[in-house]
Amino acid sequence: MQYRRLGSSGLQLSALSFGAWVTFGSQIGRSEARNLVAAAWDHGVNFFDNAEGYANGAAEQVMGDVIADLRLPRDGYCVSSKVFFGAAADPRPTQRGLSRKHVRDACDAALKRLRVEHLDLYFCHRPDPDTPVAETVWAMDALIRQGKVLYWGTSEWPAALIREAAQIARTHHLHCPTMEQPEYNLLRRERVELEYAPLYAELGLGATIWSPLASGLLTGKYADGVPADSRLAQPQLEWLQGSVLGDANANRVGRAGRFTALAAELGVSPAPLAIAWCLTNPHVSTVLLGASKVSQLLENLQALELLGRFDDSVWRRVEAVTG
Ligand code: NDP
Repeated sequence: MQYRRLGSSGLQLSALSFGAWVTFGSQIGRSEARNLVAAAWDHGVNFFDNAEGYANGAAEQVMGDVIADLRLPRDGYCVSSKVFFGAAADPRPTQRGLSRKHVRDACDAALKRLRVEHLDLYFCHRPDPDTPVAETVWAMDALIRQGKVLYWGTSEWPAALIREAAQIARTHHLHCPTMEQPEYNLLRRERVELEYAPLYAELGLGATIWSPLASGLLTGKYADGVPADSRLAQPQLEWLQGSVLGDANANRVGRAGRFTALAAELGVSPAPLAIAWCLTNPHVSTVLLGASKVSQLLENLQALELLGRFDDSVWRRVEAVTG
C-alpha cells in the first residue's frame, strides 16, 4: 500500500480506501462485508468510508460490527460518516440537512452505529440550500472541539461554496474544511480537474474521490446489457442507470468499450487500470473503492502495481480513448 496525506493535513490515508455504498446493509450479507473489510485491512487499507444515508444507517451498523469483530486497532484505521440525507426512511425536517441540530444529532447517531468515540473524517454530503453556510461551519467546528470529529469536509459542493466556508472559518478562527469527496473517473473529470483546481493550493484541500469505476461501467461489465447480479440490476437503484450508462450523446458505454479494448491491448484488467489512472492525479488523497465481492477488491488493489508500471505516454492514451 502507499499512503498519501489528506490534502495539506498530517493525516496519512491509504491511497486506496474502501467504501460501503450500495453493498453494506443491502446488497451483501454481514459475512461478505466482514471478509471485504478483513481483505482491505490485510492489504494496508486504513480508511473505511460511510454515510448516515447508506442503507438508512444499516451500512454504518454493519461496518461498526465488523470492525469491532475483527478487533482492528482504533489508532490504525480511519472511519468516516457523512451528513445530509438523513438515516430515516422518510426523514422529518430536522432529521436531514446541515442545520446545527441535524449535524450534531447525525454525528452522535453515526458514532453509535460505527461503535467509535470519534469520526476521523466527517463530510457534508451535499450543500444544503436551506441552511446558512456559517451555521454548518460553526457546527462542524464545535464537533471538532468536542473531540467527536477530527477532520471535516464536503462532498459535491460547488467550489464557490467551499471557498465561502473556508473564508468564514478563517475569519472566526474555526477549523477549515480539509477535504472534498467528489466523483472522479475517466468519464467524469471536470469538477476535480477544472472547478476545484485553484482550491488545492489555496485551501490545502484533499480529494477523497468516489466511483473510480463509474459504478462498474469501466470494468466492461455493462457492454452487453445489465448483468442480473450487478449494481445496476438492484431494484432500488433504477434511478442510477441513467447517470451511469448515460444517453447517446454522452456515449459512455462506447467510451468504456474503447477503454476496455485498450486495457486488453496493454494486457491488463480494466478495473485496476481505471483506478490507477485516478491515482496519477496528485490532488487525489485517496481513491474510494467499492466491491460486492472479495475477488473484485483483490483485483482492484492491483492498481498500485499498474501505477508504477506505466508511464505518462500510456496515461495519455488512456485519456485519449475515453475523452
Ligand atoms: P466504483 O465505481 O468502483 O463501483 C463499485 C462497484 O463496481 C462494485 O460495488 C461492483 O458492483 C463493481 N465492481 C467493482 N470492482 C469490480 C471488478 N473488479 N469487476 C467487476 N465489477 C466490479 O465505486 P463506488 O461507486 O462503489 O464508490 C466507492 C465508494 O465511494 C462508495 O462505497 C462510497 O463510500 C463512496 N461514494 C460516495 C459518494 C458521495 O456522494 N460522496 C457517492 C458514491 C460513492 P457490482 O458487483 O454490484 O456490479
